[in-house]
Amino acid sequence: MERANIVLLDKAHVWHPYTAMEAYIAATQPLVIDRAEGCYLFDVDGKRYLDANGSWWVSTLGHRHPRLLRALTEQAGKLPHVSLAGITHEPAAALATELAAIAPGADRPEIPLAEKLTRVFYSDNGSTAVEVAIKMVAQYWAQNGRPRRTRFITLSGAFHGETLGSTSVGGVPLFREVFGPLLFDVVHVPSPAEEGGWERAFNQVQAALRENPEEIAGVIVEPVIQGASGMQMYSPDFLRAVREATRAVDTFLIADEVFTGLGRTGARFAVDLAGVVPDVLCLAKALSGGLMPFAATLASERLFSGFLGASSRALYYGHSYCGNPLGAAVAREVLAVYRTEDILGQVARKAPLVKAAFERMAASIPGLVRPRAVGMVGAVDLGGGGYLASGGWRVYEAAKRRGLYLRPLGDTVYIAPALNIPDSVLEELLSGVEESLREVAGG
Ligand SMILES: *Cc1c(COP(=O)(O)O)cnc(C)c1O
Repeated sequence: MERANIVLLDKAHVWHPYTAMEAYIAATQPLVIDRAEGCYLFDVDGKRYLDANGSWWVSTLGHRHPRLLRALTEQAGKLPHVSLAGITHEPAAALATELAAIAPGADRPEIPLAEKLTRVFYSDNGSTAVEVAIKMVAQYWAQNGRPRRTRFITLSGAFHGETLGSTSVGGVPLFREVFGPLLFDVVHVPSPAEEGGWERAFNQVQAALRENPEEIAGVIVEPVIQGASGMQMYSPDFLRAVREATRAVDTFLIADEVFTGLGRTGARFAVDLAGVVPDVLCLAKALSGGLMPFAATLASERLFSGFLGASSRALYYGHSYCGNPLGAAVAREVLAVYRTEDILGQVARKAPLVKAAFERMAASIPGLVRPRAVGMVGAVDLGGGGYLASGGWRVYEAAKRRGLYLRPLGDTVYIAPALNIPDSVLEELLSGVEESLREVAGG
């Protein structure tokens, strides 16, 4: 089909995510992508775009990695799907074992088994990975002697997904307000990324835990980087302090690593930067490398034990595609590629280039503020406009003309490319970002 035709059908019927549809239908010329390869997207006319955000942070090994494609087609030829109801299969069983083996704390003998992340619950996406975490924790307390523990402590600026549960623990007002009456009550504390340092946020976490230890079900965080609210970064020291504070009152810490998990920050998991072992760890996005919607929620042995016994104590939760063999087979191959291609080593080598480039841009282009970088994420702001500000979109247009797909978060311009991006493509990406910012901001 020709571009014009596809756009016509799209504008007649497709309701796009995070999109003001009236303006979209009236004015947006969407990219019409036909295929992808490595770090590049190709439109129907063959024009090439460098994918600066790994297609919303999922394509961490580049598009169409040959090994992932092979794992997918081999599994599809054998068993594309079967439920996990009274059934198991090699991809689900082996992947759970491999995840438990690389989970934070797995290799630390001083950590008791009860605290290790030994159990894996599968679902389809980041939102459901968080949703099941919330339900696990709430039900654990309900049937293990502390039924008043129903409130979660959440960070301002947090993003945990789109279900009503994950929206309830979110902290971006624009995504919450309209659903206000439908959301459950949480304790909001400031973001540790806010100016003035993480201590302010931590003091409020600690105060809430001390005031109401019998009401707090757990604390949920995006470790080190709050992604969707604009790549807000904070010190791992905050995580260490929160872990101690939650242990002091014996409540849970949930690490939502849907974005940060599997190397994005340079460590395998962002909590590893703090040496912290959470009670629950949510993974999606990078887990299946942009091939399949797939997610895993890792739970501690203690949490899991709280569901044993009478059948009324079971976790009555699941999705049609729970443990989907295609997703699980691809995820196993993702982990294998990380090992054989030393993805974490690649990030360690390239991360300083990203950091230096964003610092250089902020120093030389007027109006840019708060350059920041961790691992393979670099970001800079065009002022303090927030999510609905328009500066980022002018940079987006300037980048598009240069063959660079650089979707902003409001006034935040950022990159989160494939972790195995070749050096020459990374250079092309960084100079494309710089030129686009210079065009819009002047200088
Ligand atoms: C993207 C994201 C989610 C939601 O994941 P989906 O797959 O979009 O449902 C949850 N938490 C974090 C930290 C995310 O970045």
